[in-house]
Amino acid sequence: MDIATTGSISDRTRRDRPQARALVIDDDPFIRLLARDHLEKLGLHVREAPDGAAGLAAIAELAPDLILLDVMMPDMDGFEVCRRARQLPEGALCPIVVLTALEDVDAVNQAYEAGATDFISKPINWVLLQHRLRFLLKAASLLQSVAKSDAQMAHAQQLSAVGSWEWRLDTGRVVWSEEMYHLCGGRAAVPVPGYQAFLPLVHPDDRQRVALAVRAALADREPYDLEHRLLSPDGCERIVHSKADILFGASGLAVAMSGTMQDITQRRQAEQRIAYLANFDALTGLPNRHLLNDRLTQGLALAARNGQALSLMCLDLDGFKYVNDSYGHAMGDRLLQAVARRLQAVVRASDTVARLGGDEFVLVLPGLAGVRDVRGMAQKLVDAFAEPFLLGQHVLRVSASVGIGVAPADGGDSEALLKNADVAMYAAKEAGRNGYRFYAQEMSQRVEQRVELEHALREAVERHQFELYYQPKVDLRGGRIMGVEALVRWHRPGYGMVSPDSFIPLAEETRLIVPIGEWVLRTACAQASAWHAMGFEHLSMAVNLSAHQFAGQHVARLLLKVLADAGLAANQLELELTESVLMSDSDAMLAALRDIKALGVLLTLDDFGTGYSSLAYLRRFPIDVLKIDRSFVRNVTTDADDASLARTIVLMAQSLKMKTVAEGVETAGQLQFLAGLGCDAVQGYYFSAPLAAPQLTALLHAPGALPAVPGELRRERTLLLLDDEPNVLSALTRLLRRDGYHILQTTCAHAAFELLATHDVQVIVSDQRMPTMAGTAFLQQVKQLYPDTIRIILSGYTELSAVIDAINQGAVYRFLTKPWDDQLLRAQVREAFDMHRLMHGGGRGAVPVAGPG
Ligand code: C2E
Ligand code: CA
Ligand code: CA
Repeated sequence: MDIATTGSISDRTRRDRPQARALVIDDDPFIRLLARDHLEKLGLHVREAPDGAAGLAAIAELAPDLILLDVMMPDMDGFEVCRRARQLPEGALCPIVVLTALEDVDAVNQAYEAGATDFISKPINWVLLQHRLRFLLKAASLLQSVAKSDAQMAHAQQLSAVGSWEWRLDTGRVVWSEEMYHLCGGRAAVPVPGYQAFLPLVHPDDRQRVALAVRAALADREPYDLEHRLLSPDGCERIVHSKADILFGASGLAVAMSGTMQDITQRRQAEQRIAYLANFDALTGLPNRHLLNDRLTQGLALAARNGQALSLMCLDLDGFKYVNDSYGHAMGDRLLQAVARRLQAVVRASDTVARLGGDEFVLVLPGLAGVRDVRGMAQKLVDAFAEPFLLGQHVLRVSASVGIGVAPADGGDSEALLKNADVAMYAAKEAGRNGYRFYAQEMSQRVEQRVELEHALREAVERHQFELYYQPKVDLRGGRIMGVEALVRWHRPGYGMVSPDSFIPLAEETRLIVPIGEWVLRTACAQASAWHAMGFEHLSMAVNLSAHQFAGQHVARLLLKVLADAGLAANQLELELTESVLMSDSDAMLAALRDIKALGVLLTLDDFGTGYSSLAYLRRFPIDVLKIDRSFVRNVTTDADDASLARTIVLMAQSLKMKTVAEGVETAGQLQFLAGLGCDAVQGYYFSAPLAAPQLTALLHAPGALPAVPGELRRERTLLLLDDEPNVLSALTRLLRRDGYHILQTTCAHAAFELLATHDVQVIVSDQRMPTMAGTAFLQQVKQLYPDTIRIILSGYTELSAVIDAINQGAVYRFLTKPWDDQLLRAQVREAFDMHRLMHGGGRGAVPVAGPG
């Protein structure tokens, strides 16, 4: 630090200490002069005022630290000036020394009454005055800081809600701080502070305790420290912490009691809440895991001592996740609260119902006498869910699965018992839910196996132990393989090939289905693409998608990426979903399905008939194909119910413009029956089991290896194409050949009539503008000859009025404009064949009613 800086610091220090200001009010200029001289020697800054009015103005302006005031002045005397000065904020606390005539005792008294601090009589002993003033100044600054800290103290007391009081034992005088009044209900409630006023405000239940403490303090000079409640007159209850101490005088006698009182209501409430939460579940108010453990440990000890059994039941809701996912968490919470109430209504007061979190409840039931009682109780619990829950305008149905452990047989300590009851609960779930199960030793083994399987499955994902098999779907019209379904297999080391039925459920539960499913999707799409490249462009690929694959990921986005990576057209991919996917019924699911549809991917409803799907329900979803479950197919030729169910499904699908596929077809009889119903395709061992990719490739190359579709069923779908332009004709043929039709084509209307006569044609597509004959005129004639045919016209926009006339006359079923949209045209032709089959069943399509003429 250099010298210049040091200098500036000392300058500032001097400036920073403010100079005290004195005001001299006297009409005698000589006295003023003398006073100034002496006061300046004290280091004071001095102002003078020649009369009272000027003095008061100077006080307001200067806020002096000291006033010297003469009493004897014309106009306004010193007493009046003093009184008025005390009214001013600047003069309220300032020391005022009055100058009086010697021996004028009256004047001194008057001055004190007017608020003077001290006096000095004239003639003035200036040395004495200097001493007095020095002392006064010091006292004044102390006084000011005390005043300031009083205000601070009041503020601090208010913030911490601490009141303080003092009780002079000699005089009986009581002083309360502002906050003390506040705690007791305000000044209005306590006009005279003191013990007499205070005691009635203490909560009646605590009053005696407080009175005893005060009495002991008074009698034995003992401080006290206690907590009690206060009831203010407005009915507000507080919890306070009261402390009192005894103050002893110089003689050693008690002179006063003083104390503090702090409002600890909020702290106590928070503590109570914390204590509550440590033991109870905030949502339902039921004991939580912590309290359950306490009660269970106690109950087990008591049961052991008395040689009694104790039952523990783990209860888990079936379908709670569904409620949460589809109605939201708030509804889920309300359901849990309602369930808690129901469970409590079932048990006795001595039983404990606890909630461990989620939808897991545990009941501790001491004193159930025997297995019959335990069974009865478990059944009561299950039955408690028979009635639906009415929550707002929602009616929710959930059932419960209950697992039972009985101590000491199923575990002597709380941990073992809980674990085993939990195992039993899972067994109840596996056994079809909505029921109860007792714990049995073997269950533990099964759980262990499950854990092992889960571990192995995780490894399988990492080590790519999966393979896809493909099972053909055979088109019943052409008898050809129209597509395949990809079915996953697991090469589990040491176990050989594991069927998906034994690991998909676990994969779903553990969410491993997400990575597995994605691998399946990628592999299947890549394989489809490879088969297309080999020339089997018509082959569609079906992939099973589990409901869990929709949760937490954007399926449409994934599909888009996978399709792009494989270079596969979206309409060559088909997703097989089970009804459980649709049952989740959430808007999110519907949106996801629409997104998938928007890509052009086809949707198949798998295992159809096993779920709850109603017609109305199906309409909501953009489904293309219904897959008749193999459980109906199995007995379709022998069981009348299954047969009629299969028939209903096919009719329903037709009315909804959906296709049907039957799965699990094993015999020629089943095949024949299903084909007769109008089923579009079949899949099953009759044609082929699922095959590894190379075997399926071989099968594709040798279609003759497939069993033939029964003769009369292979009713060829015959299509007649008529257009005068050979290019158009060949383009149309190329496009429509993919759909497996038997195609007849010609450029001339005359030849077309020949073809119609010699073939069983169901659908005709004709050009409108032709040199020899307009398309509409041609189709008018065809309508007369072969009324059962479905007739489509291809026309330019300019000829539309003629076409519309033809439609109105029934000669034309549909028209398509040139140039056409490939997909639309294919769909229209397909629909025309469906239409034909619906109207005319299996019979001949083109039956002439009269000879051509
Ligand atoms: P699913 O989708 O109903 O598949 C048809 C099942 O029926 C296949 O069993 C197939 O081998 C079997 N099957 C085929 N033809 C016949 C027949 O004529 N008679 C009989 N009795 N059964 C036949 P698989 O391959 O064991 O698959 C079982 C289930 O595992 C599948 O049922 C499907 O739900 C699931 N699954 C298979 N692969 C996947 C997959 O990649 N992802 C998902 N999420 N699930 C899959
Ligand atoms: Ca399937
Ligand atoms: Ca199926």
